[in-house]
Amino acid sequence: MSTIDHQNYEAVIGLEVHAQLLTESKAFTSISTAFGASPNTQISPLCIGHPGTLPVLNENLVRYTIKMGLATDCEIARKSIFARKNYFYPDLPKGYQISQYETPICHDGTLHIDMEDYEKDIGIKRIHMEEDAGKSIHDQDPHNSLIDLNRAGVPLIEIVSEPDISTPEEAYAYLGRIKQIVTYLGVCDGNMEEGSLRCDANVSVKPRDRKEFGTRTELKNLNSFRNVERALRYEIERQIEVIESGGEVIQHTLLWDPQKQQTRQMRTKEEAHDYRYFPEPDIPPVVVTESMIEEERERLPEMPDVRRQRFIEEFELSADDAYRLTEEREVADFYESIVEQVENPQSVSNLVLTEVLRVLNERSIGIEDFPVSTGRLAELIQLREDDKISSSAQTEIFDAMLEEPEADKSAEDYAKEMNLMQVSDTDFLEPIIDEVISSNPDEVKRYQEGKKGLIGFFIGQTMEKSRGKANPKMVREMISEKLENGDQES
Ligand code: ADP
Ligand code: MG
Repeated sequence: MSTIDHQNYEAVIGLEVHAQLLTESKAFTSISTAFGASPNTQISPLCIGHPGTLPVLNENLVRYTIKMGLATDCEIARKSIFARKNYFYPDLPKGYQISQYETPICHDGTLHIDMEDYEKDIGIKRIHMEEDAGKSIHDQDPHNSLIDLNRAGVPLIEIVSEPDISTPEEAYAYLGRIKQIVTYLGVCDGNMEEGSLRCDANVSVKPRDRKEFGTRTELKNLNSFRNVERALRYEIERQIEVIESGGEVIQHTLLWDPQKQQTRQMRTKEEAHDYRYFPEPDIPPVVVTESMIEEERERLPEMPDVRRQRFIEEFELSADDAYRLTEEREVADFYESIVEQVENPQSVSNLVLTEVLRVLNERSIGIEDFPVSTGRLAELIQLREDDKISSSAQTEIFDAMLEEPEADKSAEDYAKEMNLMQVSDTDFLEPIIDEVISSNPDEVKRYQEGKKGLIGFFIGQTMEKSRGKANPKMVREMISEKLENGDQES
């Protein structure tokens, strides 16, 4: 492998991403899509393919897809057609899937990705609407495969990229961006591990100086962002080796095996004609009116790039901090809801980016499961802003709050209980400062001779003697006043 000069080759990648939509009912019936119901309880005669049933299009399926199209700068077709994609599968009792074929509802969009040292626009070829199949379960019964049809007929969109992606890292970034957009829009929960987002990756390689694309393979079973990246890396290497050893890449569908970290052949790739697509006779063409598009455009939330820019301007955050805070909509919402309650947006950014995100990471949870409310965090930050506690005390109280997320105790209650309130009381500070000054005559002398930097030494001594509870600002003022006036006294 090492003798091959990989620099002579480049990869061409196109991704097909399925996103399960968060509509309340299925694509073509009013049956609920609520997650977690017992198997085969959310089905109607239509979902199980009874003859004589008729599909009725869920308007939200259309609206959600338009939203996604608008967010990726797609053209929205004023008229699009559903098609039957015919194939046999045990969890597809109808024998066909309702999808879109020649005329998808959205086409020719772009998606912007940010890489570490460059950025790039990836073309979106099309976004079409379709329905999901049921689920085959192979690991619950030793002898039989079980089938749950609750998922049959749940609405999906398929987002098909142009072959503009050049590296596995770009594919990873592209998926991250799709996830970010669908979750900002609220059309999909974006969870790849749970199957709400699914990705098939098409990949080919070609010598750098050649224009035409090579033969591609299609990779399936990629159930995490990392697996997409790893599978592509593996497959690119494999194809280069095949070509270098005089062979030919065959257009196969391959399965990624996450245990063995390699791809294996599933079947030769099916062609469109294998599916015998034809226009769905039971659903009239989908007509999208101008007013529908305008309504959806107006309902679009503030998208991540715009929000980041606003954070930089409105809250005076660094570009980096604003980027991290707006990566996930829920984190940005969380941040803003604290900002509304305190004076300094920068101090909120510090706490969220260091402490809160650290906890999410350690516990592998999303911000929606963060146990301490934004109101309590706001109090904590304000306490520090008002100089009533030190920054290390802020962290200590934060940790204590995490331990007792349900406790009905304010940040101030904790500060008092844990003896962390800074003391600004001159009666308390004065004797301590006097003692520090009288026990360090040499330093006092040097200070008064002009070594003003020694103020730090006196503050440090006072803080130590007060066990960190003194308010440092206050201590500084009192000490410098005493030392400045010291001349007259002596
Ligand atoms: P099909 O109809 O066979 O699914 P499409 O033209 O819809 O083919 O393309 C499917 C995906 O494959 C798209 O994301 C596209 O960008 C990508 N693709 C097409 N040709 C190539 C190629 N030679 N190498 C890599 N990806 C490709
Ligand atoms: Mg396809």
